[in-house]
Amino acid sequence: MSARDVIANLRELAALTSNADGAQRLAWGPVWRDARTWFNGKLAALGITPEIDAAGNSWATLPGQSARTVIIGSHLDSVPNGGWLDGALGVMAGLEALRMFSGQKPPVTIKVVDWADEEGARFSRSLLGSSASSGSLQIAEIEGLVDKTGVTLPDALRDNGVDLSRIHESQRYLKAIDAKAYLELHIEQGPVLEAAGKSAGVVIGTFGVERHLLRFVGQAAHSGSTPIPMRRDAFLAAAESALAFREIAKRHTTPTGRVVCTVGTVKAEPGIVTAVPGVCEISLDQRALDAEVLAAMLAEARAASWRIASENNVSVEWRKIWSIDPRPFDPGLIRLCDDAVREVTGDAPRLPSGPLHDAAEMVPHMPVVMMFTYSSNGLSHCKEEDTPEEHLSRAIEAFLLLVRKVVAQ
Ligand SMILES: [Zn+2]
Repeated sequence: MSARDVIANLRELAALTSNADGAQRLAWGPVWRDARTWFNGKLAALGITPEIDAAGNSWATLPGQSARTVIIGSHLDSVPNGGWLDGALGVMAGLEALRMFSGQKPPVTIKVVDWADEEGARFSRSLLGSSASSGSLQIAEIEGLVDKTGVTLPDALRDNGVDLSRIHESQRYLKAIDAKAYLELHIEQGPVLEAAGKSAGVVIGTFGVERHLLRFVGQAAHSGSTPIPMRRDAFLAAAESALAFREIAKRHTTPTGRVVCTVGTVKAEPGIVTAVPGVCEISLDQRALDAEVLAAMLAEARAASWRIASENNVSVEWRKIWSIDPRPFDPGLIRLCDDAVREVTGDAPRLPSGPLHDAAEMVPHMPVVMMFTYSSNGLSHCKEEDTPEEHLSRAIEAFLLLVRKVVAQ
């Protein structure tokens, strides 16, 4: 077993599928197919030929003494000009796990899945393969998607042997697996582990998200002639609300439960330096791991906006953009992951994941846990994405130890 081999494979893949701007393994395209062909060569050396399900997900199987199965997953696709670790790290760690047990019959079966089109970088639908497999994908929501060059999603899939109308048959492949656990190693893509100086962290789940657009309406008026007490300033009501939302997030943050909220867009009308803004629209994105906390944050934000609107003599309307439930990971697997990270690195920080991952799609179907590695400068989805080698090897060792613990359990 060696972290060095995993890193060597990652460098080999990067050399094969990157240019000066970074990784170019865009899903359903030629470089992505080259990456898969290269990976199949690595599997062939272990005597394994992967199976492709109806959504284009690639499954490599090492049969064990029992049909109970430990699944290790991630994705070989990347965003354009992407990094060398996002997705590829999890797949290469899975390959190393297969190698670790190859030539012996492990107590359980081990499968490594390379999910198709995790990034959604070409057709704007992330987690395509894993959501098809888990049953949460709606065909109606994706059949009209077109990429920048005018290629439709159904055509891109057909070029890769995937028939969109039969994509749900991938659920059958997943359902036929007697899954004991789903494990995924991924780069953090944020600054938390780096700030703490930790090689690896235990991911306790993926955040739920509430995303809304708020429209404050007052009255536009002349900035010179309108006395302050007589104004109906929509921007100030929006600004006061944004500050109140931050206080709500701070109030709900506990030592073990970090939550976040962001007002990411603001649009004031009429947008003239000499006019009091009569209309102001802001976005609100709230995230938390606990569904009740997220619901309370949303209710408090609504109440705060109504109170502030009335104090400023303006109105406010909320429109929902998107939401998703939190996906907490399995407590037993979190404990095992904690043990593995602690044994290798001396400490096991726990953190939630802000970004979504294929692992989140598996939560309704089986026990799931993820491990994160240190992300240099918190950067990802760019060529600068990196993990210093000593941190990367410790994280890989911890992950392979986790695999051994779960297999033996
Ligand atoms: Zn990823």
